[in-house]
Amino acid sequence: MLDAKLTLKSHPQHRSSIQVSSQVTIGGKAIVVIGGPCTVESLDQMEQVARSLSTVSVSALRGGVYKPRTSPYAFQGAGIEGLRILASVREQFGLPVVTEVMAIEQIEPVASYADMLQIGSRNMQNFELLKALGRINKPILLKRGLAATLEEFVMAAEYILSHGNPNVVLCERGIRSFDPYTRNVLDLGAVVALRQLTHLPVIVDPSHATGKRELVADLARAAIACGADGLIIECHPNPDLSVSDARQALSLSDMADLVRSLEPIAAAVDRQILNSKALAMCS
Ligand code: PEP
Ligand code: MN
Repeated sequence: MLDAKLTLKSHPQHRSSIQVSSQVTIGGKAIVVIGGPCTVESLDQMEQVARSLSTVSVSALRGGVYKPRTSPYAFQGAGIEGLRILASVREQFGLPVVTEVMAIEQIEPVASYADMLQIGSRNMQNFELLKALGRINKPILLKRGLAATLEEFVMAAEYILSHGNPNVVLCERGIRSFDPYTRNVLDLGAVVALRQLTHLPVIVDPSHATGKRELVADLARAAIACGADGLIIECHPNPDLSVSDARQALSLSDMADLVRSLEPIAAAVDRQILNSKALAMCS
Protein backbone atom coordinates (compact mmCIF):
# COMPACT_ATOMS: atom_id res chain seq x y z
CA MET A 1 0.00 0.00 0.00
CA LEU A 2 2.47 2.52 1.19
CA ASP A 3 4.21 2.81 -2.16
CA ALA A 4 1.04 2.08 -4.13
CA LYS A 5 0.12 4.12 -7.18
CA LEU A 6 -3.06 5.22 -5.48
CA THR A 7 -2.47 8.55 -3.74
CA LEU A 8 -3.71 8.18 -0.20
CA LYS A 9 -5.40 11.10 1.55
CA SER A 10 -3.01 10.58 4.46
CA HIS A 11 0.07 11.10 2.23
CA PRO A 12 2.94 12.83 4.03
CA GLN A 13 3.36 15.84 1.73
CA HIS A 14 2.55 18.22 4.58
CA ARG A 15 1.87 17.90 8.33
CA SER A 16 -1.64 18.37 9.64
CA SER A 17 -2.67 19.90 12.89
CA ILE A 18 -6.10 19.04 14.19
CA GLN A 19 -8.06 21.57 16.22
CA VAL A 20 -9.79 20.06 19.23
CA SER A 21 -10.92 23.32 20.88
CA SER A 22 -10.07 27.02 20.59
CA GLN A 23 -6.92 26.50 22.70
CA VAL A 24 -5.95 22.94 21.81
CA THR A 25 -4.50 21.79 18.50
CA ILE A 26 -2.79 18.42 18.05
CA GLY A 27 0.06 18.18 15.58
CA GLY A 28 1.70 21.58 15.92
CA LYS A 29 4.91 22.35 17.74
CA ALA A 30 3.18 22.02 21.10
CA ILE A 31 2.68 18.52 22.47
CA VAL A 32 -0.79 17.79 23.87
CA VAL A 33 -1.27 15.70 27.01
CA ILE A 34 -4.71 14.14 27.54
CA GLY A 35 -5.41 12.65 30.97
CA GLY A 36 -8.21 11.07 32.93
CA PRO A 37 -9.66 7.80 34.12
CA CYS A 38 -10.42 4.78 31.99
CA THR A 39 -14.10 5.09 32.91
CA VAL A 40 -16.26 8.01 34.01
CA GLU A 41 -17.54 6.83 37.40
CA SER A 42 -19.10 9.92 39.03
CA LEU A 43 -19.17 13.70 38.87
CA ASP A 44 -17.06 13.88 42.02
CA GLN A 45 -14.39 11.61 40.48
CA MET A 46 -14.21 13.67 37.28
CA GLU A 47 -14.11 16.97 39.21
CA GLN A 48 -11.20 15.72 41.30
CA VAL A 49 -9.36 14.66 38.14
CA ALA A 50 -10.05 17.91 36.29
CA ARG A 51 -9.16 20.08 39.29
CA SER A 52 -5.82 18.36 39.67
CA LEU A 53 -4.93 18.14 35.97
CA SER A 54 -5.80 21.75 35.32
CA THR A 55 -2.91 22.78 37.60
CA VAL A 56 -0.39 21.14 35.23
CA SER A 57 0.09 21.06 31.46
CA VAL A 58 -2.75 18.69 30.66
CA SER A 59 -4.86 20.12 27.84
CA ALA A 60 -7.75 17.67 27.53
CA LEU A 61 -9.65 15.17 29.66
CA ARG A 62 -10.44 11.58 28.83
CA GLY A 63 -13.02 9.20 30.32
CA GLY A 64 -15.05 6.41 28.77
CA VAL A 65 -18.83 6.29 29.06
CA TYR A 66 -19.34 3.50 26.51
CA LYS A 67 -16.79 0.87 27.48
CA PRO A 68 -15.59 -2.08 25.40
CA ARG A 69 -15.27 -4.59 28.26
CA THR A 70 -13.92 -8.09 27.72
CA SER A 71 -16.68 -9.49 29.92
CA PRO A 72 -20.33 -8.67 29.25
CA TYR A 73 -20.82 -8.87 33.04
CA ALA A 74 -18.38 -6.02 33.73
CA PHE A 75 -19.57 -2.39 34.03
CA GLN A 76 -20.37 -1.17 30.53
CA GLY A 77 -20.13 2.57 31.18
CA ALA A 78 -22.38 5.34 32.46
CA GLY A 79 -23.78 6.23 29.01
CA ILE A 80 -25.69 9.52 28.67
CA GLU A 81 -25.29 10.27 32.39
CA GLY A 82 -21.52 9.96 31.85
CA LEU A 83 -21.71 12.35 28.90
CA ARG A 84 -23.45 14.89 31.15
CA ILE A 85 -20.65 14.52 33.70
CA LEU A 86 -18.06 15.13 30.98
CA ALA A 87 -19.96 18.20 29.79
CA SER A 88 -20.07 19.54 33.33
CA VAL A 89 -16.30 19.23 33.95
CA ARG A 90 -15.59 20.59 30.48
CA GLU A 91 -17.62 23.67 31.36
CA GLN A 92 -16.25 24.09 34.89
CA PHE A 93 -12.58 23.60 34.07
CA GLY A 94 -12.40 24.79 30.46
CA LEU A 95 -10.78 21.58 29.20
CA PRO A 96 -11.96 19.77 26.05
CA VAL A 97 -13.07 16.15 26.51
CA VAL A 98 -12.34 12.96 24.57
CA THR A 99 -14.54 9.87 24.86
CA GLU A 100 -15.09 6.62 22.99
CA VAL A 101 -17.88 5.73 20.57
CA MET A 102 -18.48 2.07 19.86
CA ALA A 103 -21.52 2.20 17.61
CA ILE A 104 -23.03 4.39 14.92
CA GLU A 105 -26.00 5.33 17.09
CA GLN A 106 -23.64 6.68 19.78
CA ILE A 107 -22.03 9.18 17.39
CA GLU A 108 -24.75 11.80 17.61
CA PRO A 109 -25.08 11.97 21.41
CA VAL A 110 -21.32 11.77 21.94
CA ALA A 111 -20.61 14.43 19.31
CA SER A 112 -23.11 16.75 20.98
CA TYR A 113 -21.22 16.59 24.33
CA ALA A 114 -17.57 15.79 23.52
CA ASP A 115 -14.85 17.66 21.62
CA MET A 116 -13.13 14.58 20.21
CA LEU A 117 -14.43 11.05 19.53
CA GLN A 118 -12.20 8.08 20.31
CA ILE A 119 -12.39 4.91 18.27
CA GLY A 120 -11.01 2.13 20.39
CA SER A 121 -8.69 -0.62 19.25
CA ARG A 122 -11.50 -3.14 19.04
CA ASN A 123 -13.31 -1.00 16.49
CA MET A 124 -10.38 0.10 14.35
CA GLN A 125 -11.70 -1.98 11.48
CA ASN A 126 -15.41 -1.43 12.08
CA PHE A 127 -15.72 -0.03 8.58
CA GLU A 128 -19.34 1.10 8.79
CA LEU A 129 -18.52 3.02 11.97
CA LEU A 130 -15.46 4.57 10.29
CA LYS A 131 -17.55 5.64 7.28
CA ALA A 132 -20.14 7.23 9.57
CA LEU A 133 -17.33 9.13 11.37
CA GLY A 134 -16.24 10.37 7.98
CA ARG A 135 -19.57 12.11 7.62
CA ILE A 136 -19.14 14.34 10.70
CA ASN A 137 -16.48 16.97 11.23
CA LYS A 138 -15.49 16.40 14.84
CA PRO A 139 -11.87 15.35 15.50
CA ILE A 140 -11.41 11.59 15.70
CA LEU A 141 -8.82 9.83 17.85
CA LEU A 142 -8.25 6.54 16.05
CA LYS A 143 -6.49 3.90 18.15
CA ARG A 144 -4.45 1.17 16.56
CA GLY A 145 -6.13 -2.24 16.48
CA LEU A 146 -5.00 -4.92 18.92
CA ALA A 147 -2.90 -6.62 16.25
CA ALA A 148 -3.16 -4.20 13.33
CA THR A 149 -0.36 -3.75 10.84
CA LEU A 150 0.57 -0.19 9.94
CA GLU A 151 -1.05 -0.71 6.56
CA GLU A 152 -4.34 -1.71 8.21
CA PHE A 153 -4.07 1.25 10.59
CA VAL A 154 -3.44 3.77 7.81
CA MET A 155 -6.25 2.28 5.74
CA ALA A 156 -8.64 2.57 8.69
CA ALA A 157 -7.77 6.28 8.86
CA GLU A 158 -8.34 6.48 5.09
CA TYR A 159 -11.93 5.28 5.62
CA ILE A 160 -12.61 8.36 7.74
CA LEU A 161 -10.64 10.75 5.53
CA SER A 162 -12.15 9.48 2.27
CA HIS A 163 -15.67 9.91 3.61
CA GLY A 164 -15.05 13.59 4.22
CA ASN A 165 -13.66 14.10 7.72
CA PRO A 166 -10.01 15.30 7.58
CA ASN A 167 -9.67 15.56 11.38
CA VAL A 168 -7.97 12.31 12.32
CA VAL A 169 -5.32 11.79 15.00
CA LEU A 170 -3.63 8.37 15.17
CA CYS A 171 -2.90 6.69 18.52
CA GLU A 172 -0.30 3.97 19.06
CA ARG A 173 -1.49 2.00 22.13
CA GLY A 174 0.59 -1.14 21.95
CA ILE A 175 0.08 -4.35 20.03
CA ARG A 176 -0.43 -7.93 21.16
CA SER A 177 2.62 -10.10 21.50
CA PHE A 178 3.73 -13.26 23.27
CA ASP A 179 4.89 -11.93 26.62
CA PRO A 180 2.17 -11.51 29.25
CA TYR A 181 4.50 -9.42 31.45
CA THR A 182 3.20 -6.28 29.73
CA ARG A 183 -0.39 -5.97 28.56
CA ASN A 184 0.83 -5.05 25.06
CA VAL A 185 4.07 -4.04 23.38
CA LEU A 186 4.49 -0.31 22.76
CA ASP A 187 5.60 0.07 19.15
CA LEU A 188 7.59 3.29 19.12
CA GLY A 189 8.91 2.37 15.68
CA ALA A 190 5.33 2.74 14.48
CA VAL A 191 5.21 6.28 15.83
CA VAL A 192 8.26 7.25 13.81
CA ALA A 193 7.05 5.37 10.72
CA LEU A 194 3.51 6.80 10.84
CA ARG A 195 4.89 10.33 11.01
CA GLN A 196 6.94 9.57 7.89
CA LEU A 197 4.13 7.77 6.06
CA THR A 198 1.27 10.18 6.81
CA HIS A 199 0.59 13.84 7.55
CA LEU A 200 -1.62 12.90 10.51
CA PRO A 201 -0.64 13.70 14.11
CA VAL A 202 0.40 10.64 16.11
CA ILE A 203 -0.09 10.33 19.85
CA VAL A 204 0.89 7.55 22.26
CA ASP A 205 -1.07 5.76 24.99
CA PRO A 206 1.52 4.26 27.35
CA SER A 207 -1.22 3.13 29.77
CA HIS A 208 -2.86 0.48 27.59
CA ALA A 209 0.51 -0.29 26.01
CA THR A 210 1.95 -1.51 29.29
CA GLY A 211 -0.96 -2.22 31.63
CA LYS A 212 1.33 -1.43 34.58
CA ARG A 213 1.50 2.01 36.18
CA GLU A 214 5.19 1.74 37.05
CA LEU A 215 6.07 1.51 33.33
CA VAL A 216 3.99 4.45 32.15
CA ALA A 217 6.18 7.49 32.91
CA ASP A 218 9.37 6.24 31.25
CA LEU A 219 7.50 5.19 28.11
CA ALA A 220 5.66 8.52 28.00
CA ARG A 221 9.03 10.28 27.96
CA ALA A 222 10.35 7.90 25.31
CA ALA A 223 7.29 8.65 23.16
CA ILE A 224 7.99 12.38 23.27
CA ALA A 225 11.66 11.76 22.49
CA CYS A 226 10.77 9.83 19.33
CA GLY A 227 8.45 12.50 17.96
CA ALA A 228 4.94 11.79 19.28
CA ASP A 229 2.57 14.75 19.01
CA GLY A 230 0.87 13.94 22.27
CA LEU A 231 0.03 11.45 24.99
CA ILE A 232 -3.16 9.98 26.41
CA ILE A 233 -2.67 8.66 29.93
CA GLU A 234 -5.02 7.07 32.47
CA CYS A 235 -5.12 8.47 36.01
CA HIS A 236 -7.58 8.32 38.87
CA PRO A 237 -8.08 9.94 42.31
CA ASN A 238 -7.86 6.49 43.87
CA PRO A 239 -6.15 4.28 41.28
CA ASP A 240 -6.68 0.94 43.00
CA LEU A 241 -10.42 1.57 43.17
CA SER A 242 -10.75 2.31 39.42
CA VAL A 243 -13.71 0.36 38.01
CA SER A 244 -11.59 -0.56 34.97
CA ASP A 245 -7.86 -0.69 34.20
CA ALA A 246 -6.92 -0.09 37.86
CA ARG A 247 -3.49 -1.68 37.50
CA GLN A 248 -2.36 0.87 34.94
CA ALA A 249 -3.95 3.98 36.49
CA LEU A 250 -1.60 6.66 37.84
CA SER A 251 -2.44 8.64 40.96
CA LEU A 252 -3.16 12.32 40.31
CA SER A 253 0.12 13.34 41.93
CA ASP A 254 2.14 10.82 39.89
CA MET A 255 0.38 12.15 36.79
CA ALA A 256 1.34 15.72 37.70
CA ASP A 257 4.97 14.69 38.29
CA LEU A 258 5.04 12.87 34.98
CA VAL A 259 3.68 15.85 33.06
CA ARG A 260 6.30 18.13 34.62
CA SER A 261 9.06 15.67 33.71
CA LEU A 262 8.13 15.86 30.02
CA GLU A 263 9.26 19.48 29.62
CA PRO A 264 13.00 18.87 29.18
CA ILE A 265 12.36 15.96 26.82
CA ALA A 266 10.09 18.15 24.69
CA ALA A 267 12.70 20.91 24.70
CA ALA A 268 15.36 18.43 23.55
CA VAL A 269 13.30 17.72 20.41
CA ASP A 270 12.58 21.42 19.90
CA ARG A 271 9.00 21.30 21.11
CA GLN A 272 7.10 22.22 24.26
CA ILE A 273 4.23 20.78 26.29
CA LEU A 274 1.02 22.68 25.59
CA ASN A 275 -0.28 24.62 28.55
CA SER A 276 -3.73 25.55 27.32
CA LYS A 277 -4.66 27.29 30.58
CA ALA A 278 -1.74 29.70 30.25
CA LEU A 279 -2.74 30.34 26.64
CA ALA A 280 -6.33 31.06 27.64
CA MET A 281 -5.13 33.59 30.21
CA CYS A 282 -3.01 35.42 27.63
CA SER A 283 -5.79 35.64 25.04
C1 PEP B 1 -9.45 3.01 26.59
O1 PEP B 1 -8.95 4.03 26.09
O2 PEP B 1 -9.90 2.95 27.76
C2 PEP B 1 -9.46 1.77 25.78
C3 PEP B 1 -10.39 0.83 25.94
O3 PEP B 1 -8.44 1.72 24.92
P1 PEP B 1 -8.06 0.67 23.76
O4 PEP B 1 -9.19 0.76 22.76
O5 PEP B 1 -6.76 1.19 23.24
O6 PEP B 1 -7.96 -0.67 24.40
MN1 MN C 1 -8.71 1.87 29.76
